[in-house]
Amino acid sequence: MASQLMRFHMMIAALAVFGFLAVPDGSTLQVIWQVGCGWYAAAIIIAGIRRRRPAMPVTWWLVALGIAGNAGGILVEYVLAHIQTDPGFPSVADVAYLSLYPAVATGLLLLIRRRTARDWSSLVDATTLTTGMSLLAWVFMVKPAASDPSIGLLGHIVSVAYPVGDVVLLAMTVRLMLSGGTRNTSFRLTCAALVCFLTGDATWAVINQMVWEPGPMAHKILADVFLAGYLVFAAAAVHPDVRSLARTVAPRPVRISRGLLVVLTVTSLIGPALLLLQALRHQVTDALAIAIGCISVFLLVLTRMSQLLTQLDLQTEKVRELAVTDELTGLPNRRSWNTELPRTMEQARRTGNPLTVALIDIDHFKNFNDTYGHPAGDRLLKEATAAWQHELRTVDHLARFGGEEFVLALPDATTAQARAIVDRMRLATPLGQTFSAGIAGWDRAETSDELTARADTALYQAKNAGRNQIAEAAQEPVTT
Ligand code: GH3
Ligand code: MG
Ligand code: MG
Repeated sequence: MASQLMRFHMMIAALAVFGFLAVPDGSTLQVIWQVGCGWYAAAIIIAGIRRRRPAMPVTWWLVALGIAGNAGGILVEYVLAHIQTDPGFPSVADVAYLSLYPAVATGLLLLIRRRTARDWSSLVDATTLTTGMSLLAWVFMVKPAASDPSIGLLGHIVSVAYPVGDVVLLAMTVRLMLSGGTRNTSFRLTCAALVCFLTGDATWAVINQMVWEPGPMAHKILADVFLAGYLVFAAAAVHPDVRSLARTVAPRPVRISRGLLVVLTVTSLIGPALLLLQALRHQVTDALAIAIGCISVFLLVLTRMSQLLTQLDLQTEKVRELAVTDELTGLPNRRSWNTELPRTMEQARRTGNPLTVALIDIDHFKNFNDTYGHPAGDRLLKEATAAWQHELRTVDHLARFGGEEFVLALPDATTAQARAIVDRMRLATPLGQTFSAGIAGWDRAETSDELTARADTALYQAKNAGRNQIAEAAQEPVTT
């Protein structure tokens, strides 16, 4: 849903980005155009803060400040070039240019922290990616800048600050993209703006590495990418979606998508690839940095793997539990009973102690449902099982057989003892309801199915005899 302000901005932005390509190179208009774009973008962001009232205004104030400062650098550089023959390096312009990094990075950090609760997996992924990129930045940008003998200490600090700023900005961008939170238009525009800045800087770095000097058009397109970055950031701030950009969302479950896996794989190969390249050139100049980079990335990938394994263990445990649990009552289900009863019988066989099984069926449950409704029926099932469990011994095993039928294994209990326990359960049934039960003592020869079938026959007898009672199966167990 685009507003009038958004439409106005999109029109100006399109004109500014495409119009810039027609502006003569090295002209004053070019400087005015660039500075104008930056300051206009900052003004639009402030208008966005006023109009949209985003949840995290400080982020947008910082972004406006960073963009205004960065664009201001172009003006400062132009002015310095006109009042001094050689403004030298570094100059005040660099301070203005560099202001973009801390301002935008801090703004993003605050935004990310607001958008998601602690999310370790995306933090590890973002750190892995940033570590790999830092290694590249170190080898190709930081080290050459730090070893340039033509600039003084301040020059070294400033020239190192650019790639470091890029790496920090990259870290924030990756973190923003990987962590959870609303993925609306404003989010996508914010990411696009950051990608503009980072692509622009990375392209600069690559150009500086090459012997080939690109033409003025390439420089102009590159400058235009930065202008697009300013203007797209402004679009993110005036889009109505910016209101919900900082909304807190629970972290997404630990998952690695195929795309992320590819990115992490490529990242892990950066160090070895650099080493290979330097070895082939017989000039291994960054062994230490590469070693530290590789170790860090490997440890981070291992951390991620262990996170995934822990998650997998927890999920497997949960699935196992769900497979043997009845959802409504929380009791073991029929599947659980089918493995539990033979185990209990085996135990009784070994100890020689008696074992009794009871089948319980709530009386006139259909009537109860029809009278009070299905949800009330569900509540009765829950309350009844909770009440019954109070009457059971810890060794007793109660399971939901299905519907309003339950099975109970009573180890170390004769049929008489079992009857007493089941009778207490019957009396404890809540909401004035009753059940009928059939009990059967194990004859030490029959199978679990035969034992259950005898209890079922007894239950049928209890129902037929008028319900609300317990019937014992005919065959008496052989006591030892
Ligand atoms: P009887 O005394 O002969 O056992 O009669 P009854 O009505 O209890 O038995 P019947 O088998 O005729 O009906 C069982 C009813 O239990 C029918 C079914 O809709 C209801 N039922 C089964 N599972 C659930 C459940 O999970 N929740 C609810 N609310 N009702 C259920
Ligand atoms: Mg019933
Ligand atoms: Mg029934």
